[in-house]
Amino acid sequence: MTDLQRLIRDVPDFPRPGIVFRDIAPLLRSHFAPTIEAMSGLLNEAEWSRIDAVAGVESRGFMLGAPLALRHGKGFVPIRKRGKLPPPVVEIPYQLEYGEGVLEMQPGQGRVLLIDDVLATGGTLRAAADLCGLAGYQVDCLAVLLDLNLVPGFRWQGIPARTVIRYP
Ligand code: 5GP
Repeated sequence: MTDLQRLIRDVPDFPRPGIVFRDIAPLLRSHFAPTIEAMSGLLNEAEWSRIDAVAGVESRGFMLGAPLALRHGKGFVPIRKRGKLPPPVVEIPYQLEYGEGVLEMQPGQGRVLLIDDVLATGGTLRAAADLCGLAGYQVDCLAVLLDLNLVPGFRWQGIPARTVIRYP
């Protein structure tokens, strides 16, 4: 177990009975800069130079994606839950670990690094990557802070999801 992983709190039966929620709040509270540095290190300099913007999935993808964008002088593009962004928006329905939802994004162009906090079933990251394509962006890289390893070897269109911490 890495030092960063030790700061993740396991919360049994949240948000539903039988689910163990991995809470990253204590990690962000005490080790925010090292966490962002660790995510930054998932791409090498050449890979960072090819990226135009970081796209983050609401809301923990914002907490991680925005500082990464700032750190590397890139733009930030929000991917939000339905009804939060003004038009024009492109939308995609998706399956969550605990339900269903719709993600939305404003149209744009350029190469993006797609960021979220956790990869569980992969439904959110897959939908968000599809949405980037529908909105006009090209997805260069996918990265998450935690991969719960429910889908070992997860890939989207051949692109692996890079991660700082992989469970178990
Ligand atoms: P997936 O779509 O891969 O099943 O679930 C990933 C999404 O659900 C992410 O956006 C993430 O924020 C949220 N999520 C699912 N499980 C957890 C968890 O254990 N901890 C945290 N922090 N988020 C989770």
